[in-house]
Amino acid sequence: MSSRISFSEQVNRYFDTAAALTKHDPTLLAQIRECNFVGRFAFPVQLDNGHIEVIHAWRAQHSNHKMPTKGGIRFAPDVCEDEVIALASLMTYKCAIVNVPFGGAKGGVAIDRKKYSPRELERITRRFIYELHRKNFIGPGIDVPAPDFGTGPTEMAWIADTYQSLNSSELNAMAAVTGKPIELGGIRGRTEATGLGVFYGVREACSVDEDMKRIGLTAGIEGKTVVIQGFGNVGYHTAKFFQENGAKVIAIGELAGVVYNANGLDIQALDQHRRETGSILGTPGAELLPSGTPVLELECDILIPAALENVITIENASRIKAKIIGEAANGPTTADANDILIKRGALIIPDAYLNAGGVTVSYFEWLKNLSHVRFGRLEKRFEEMAFRRLLSAVENATEQKFNQEMIKLYSRGADEQDLVRSGLEETMAGSYQEIRNIQLRLGGNIDLRTAAFISAIDKIALCYAELGIFP
Ligand code: NAD
Repeated sequence: MSSRISFSEQVNRYFDTAAALTKHDPTLLAQIRECNFVGRFAFPVQLDNGHIEVIHAWRAQHSNHKMPTKGGIRFAPDVCEDEVIALASLMTYKCAIVNVPFGGAKGGVAIDRKKYSPRELERITRRFIYELHRKNFIGPGIDVPAPDFGTGPTEMAWIADTYQSLNSSELNAMAAVTGKPIELGGIRGRTEATGLGVFYGVREACSVDEDMKRIGLTAGIEGKTVVIQGFGNVGYHTAKFFQENGAKVIAIGELAGVVYNANGLDIQALDQHRRETGSILGTPGAELLPSGTPVLELECDILIPAALENVITIENASRIKAKIIGEAANGPTTADANDILIKRGALIIPDAYLNAGGVTVSYFEWLKNLSHVRFGRLEKRFEEMAFRRLLSAVENATEQKFNQEMIKLYSRGADEQDLVRSGLEETMAGSYQEIRNIQLRLGGNIDLRTAAFISAIDKIALCYAELGIFP
């Protein structure tokens, strides 16, 4: 097959491989695979210099088997309808894989955000949300956007404000978008959620002794060498959690170049330098590799593409040396490249599972907005008192006293961030085991991606079966 098939055809190819291993009715499989709605928008926006520009944007709702649909909005110059449909379909499968009760959606605005002022970006964002609202494409029970490539909490705040001003009497208006700043109903732990989820997912894969032996590695994260492409929200947080847990992040590739340290880069120093200068290049202790060095092809145990889709292709797949490829970005590996890597025995942890941390915590944010109460607010003090009573009982039984520092440490009740991280860890670990069990059930002859798609297809099929539409 040609390597030039479109992004959505690639996702469908993964779907078809998995679907062929299930016993579901072919019409049902066709319904699951199809994108349910796509909206194509063109709207005028006034620039700071007074000129008007026509902005092109899309929103795809891939599956309405569960409502609302959910998915990020990306700002990227070459985003197109096919890409948005492909990403929306990945969202459908992703939500099913990690048991988040949403259908999949995605939005894209074809702009290079670097070319616009903050005020222009605000006008573009607000106008797009106005257009989505006009077409009933947004709402807490309809379709809920989130950040993606090129967007973040600021854009989500503009979205929340626009939606609320258009729906001033709607009690749950804040649940119409996730990834918001904390002050506007966001949740502690959302910013780092995707990167932390990537870390939890890779750690879970690395904990399986026999799988690690098969690829010539020992179990565990400690000491493993990691290379990351992209140092944005996902790349930075993934790097941070790997470093904090004893892995060596030896190289990071950005658009401007690749930085390297064989003993492990200092991730906080890179972040600090980037905040101060706008680039990771020039960070003390981070050697700049020669211009054009292909970061994906560096020797390492774990490779994390965390930038864009279609970066591991038929052209470079045979030169990729990593034993584990953790797909933090959406769609980084083309279907042909996937086959090459699997054939040579690499362990690919697929995007549809691995980067689901963001949507998982978005789900928690949506629940928080609907319940209008911060997680932990009701039980934190009660938990602390219960732990203190337990510590007193231990003191009485052992006739030993805990010092104040120990009492504080052992009796701390869970706050919102603790609960979010615990829910995320449980989700990533539990879903990995579900996928791996499918792999084992089918005799261990399928890769993790196929197993993850089977997991998604089975769950979505069950929803349709409940409706009694399909046999
Ligand atoms: P981001 O905009 O914060 O960061 C992307 C980074 O990649 C930027 O620093 C950019 O300079 C860099 N980059 C772009 N092209 C590159 C190239 N060719 N080589 C090296 N670096 C390059 O975006 P993000 O939110 O971190 O998203 C990254 C990927 O993760 C995307 O595929 C996105 O769809 C996926 N994702 C993001 C989330 C989320 O919560 N943000 C959730 C799931 C999946």
